Amino acid sequence: EERTPVDINTILDEILLLHEKQLWEHSIKVAHHFAEGLGKVNASKNQLRQVFLNLISNARDAMPEGGRLTVATEGDDYFVHVTVADNGVGIKKEHLDLIFETFFTTKTDSVKGVGLGLSVCYGFIKDHGGDIKVDSRTGEGTTFTISLPVCRQPL
Ligand code: ADP
Ligand code: MG
Repeated sequence: EERTPVDINTILDEILLLHEKQLWEHSIKVAHHFAEGLGKVNASKNQLRQVFLNLISNARDAMPEGGRLTVATEGDDYFVHVTVADNGVGIKKEHLDLIFETFFTTKTDSVKGVGLGLSVCYGFIKDHGGDIKVDSRTGEGTTFTISLPVCRQPL
């Protein structure tokens, strides 16, 4: 996949706009907090879109009665950090080490998932020199944090 300097906020904006209606139909309120002046990341736009789409779909599935999805960015000199947080069902402690495994799923509806989303996310993010982490509490919600290295600026 071709990599180009990508503005993460733009990618997230596009994805949220595309899914705004669907999220609203699921009674999910969306909030976003984007940092200004973030460095660009050298990345495959398509792969990043897939990553954020997977995280948003999982958040939606975790909030069957609706809820709040918060997408935020922040950066430092070396990394851009994106958090995707929901106040949904959360992930059981004993599952936290398994969710990035291929074919791990707790969903019984194969239309919703077969357990590929997060393993694909993990592969793409690692391939970009980044990292993906999860923090979750059952009954409270889940936050995924993705860190990607910013492009080196030409001198
Ligand atoms: P799938 O969505 O097909 O089940 P994923 O790889 O996307 O596969 O996710 C694996 C599992 O991780 C899910 O089945 C679910 O148990 C858990 N999970 C992922 N994201 C969330 C989330 N935001 N809230 C609660 N559980 C989650
Ligand atoms: Mg999924």
